[in-house]
Amino acid sequence: MTIDGRAVLSLAGFHVLNPATELVMAEAPDCTAKQLDEAVASARRAAPGWAGLSLQKRQAYVKQIGETISANVEELAQLLTQEQGKPLNDARGEVQRAAFWCSEIAKLEIPVLTLADSDTELVRVYRVPLGVVGGIVPWNFPLALAMWKVAPALLTGNTMVLKPSPYTPLTTLKLGEMLRDVLPAGVLNVISGTDALGPLMSAHPGIDKISFTGSTQTGRKVMASAAVNLKRLTLELGGNDAAIVLPDVDIEELAPILFWAAFRNNAQFCLAIKRLYIHEDIYDRLTQALIRLANETRVGPGSEESVQLGPVQNRLQFERLKDLLEDTRRNGYRILVGGQLSARKGYFFPVTLIDNPPETARVVQEEAFGPILPLLKFSDIDDVIQRANNSEYGLGGSVWGRDEDQAMRIARQLKTGTVWVNEIHTIVPNKPLAGHKQSGVGVENGEEGLLEYTVPQTVSLKRATQRVLPAPP
Ligand code: NAD
Repeated sequence: MTIDGRAVLSLAGFHVLNPATELVMAEAPDCTAKQLDEAVASARRAAPGWAGLSLQKRQAYVKQIGETISANVEELAQLLTQEQGKPLNDARGEVQRAAFWCSEIAKLEIPVLTLADSDTELVRVYRVPLGVVGGIVPWNFPLALAMWKVAPALLTGNTMVLKPSPYTPLTTLKLGEMLRDVLPAGVLNVISGTDALGPLMSAHPGIDKISFTGSTQTGRKVMASAAVNLKRLTLELGGNDAAIVLPDVDIEELAPILFWAAFRNNAQFCLAIKRLYIHEDIYDRLTQALIRLANETRVGPGSEESVQLGPVQNRLQFERLKDLLEDTRRNGYRILVGGQLSARKGYFFPVTLIDNPPETARVVQEEAFGPILPLLKFSDIDDVIQRANNSEYGLGGSVWGRDEDQAMRIARQLKTGTVWVNEIHTIVPNKPLAGHKQSGVGVENGEEGLLEYTVPQTVSLKRATQRVLPAPP
């Protein structure tokens, strides 16, 4: 681990498995409560000096984090594929995106709002850092999602304690090691641990904010324990994104776009298409095109360059998917393609398409977070909007159709933080990403996301020439 700028060992460790082989590939340190205290104390010690640097200096540091990542793409990507399972090319893409995030966030300014500037008064609203931020990250995009937190938190003058998922700690620990000589000691502490560590962080009185990405279920727990010192929170949680496909689309052109928007990263993607609503006029043709793509997809170990989808990341997730499949079979919903598990080692799960199950089916209602996709038929626009909105989640959604006005009208009626029209997953540092309903609290990215790492400080000055004494009470 990296605590106070130094390498720190833990007495206890835990196994990290390669999901393609189910073999132990490494032992990661299990941070003790005392070591967490040390990491928090180190971040607190570093905070005043870091916040006191000029913005230009912090921008330069965040840029340097990006450059460090860029200089080590191959090493980080190899490690990421081994622990996470994703194909090497996707891992390289993730590492490059993590670097890109840093270089883009490093260009941002922290706005100062001037509410009044006259002969009599000056009123400004500054944005000041919160102090110590705890970053808690999931296993689907370990490095990219970590940088979504690290870059804005450090830029705005906070210091950090960062914790990757116990399933994928290695790439993040490695980056912590690479940054020891880049950042001042204590500014970015990177720790790892088993299930007990996250709750210790969210309840820690020395942490001022938790920025959490993970499941809605865990997000609720984080929110409850953060009450201890009224921590600020950003929670980016689960999703069950609907895509609505209108009858006038170009099926051949669209099919691969929809397919990969659902299955990239083995559908372990918060904003993946998880319910695909297809107009009845094109349902059969689009379904056939998707089946063809499913049959052509190469599933295998991510370390093989030709592989397009790796294994599911962990056993728990694999078992959840098997359970969803079992439920689908038990209820007699038709499986169009996939559904057969091989006997090979590794958490390999075939791309599976389900033919128009009812809205009440678990595979429709639940976030599968794996390669099982329900295809759902609709005929009426108002009805499909209502079905798309019938979810406790409100993360993202998409609308596909040639009539842009109609598509925009539908988009505006979806109750989600992001809606794409005739494009998808154009996720960039300057677009805010918010979860509506139980998909989250707060925002990541964009200026709003940056400001979540600050609190407003309103400073009012009465100009000397106009000074008046306060009235007696
Ligand atoms: P998870 O909730 O199981 O774990 C996320 C992180 O929280 C891990 O680091 C874990 O160790 C930690 N944790 C577990 N219990 C904790 C507790 N009680 N207190 C504090 N921390 C705790 O999620 P996961 O399975 O790793 O990730 C998958 C989920 O993440 C999916 O629901 C997905 O939709 C969501 N996700 C959301 C976004 C987004 O931006 N909205 C992005 C990626 C993933």
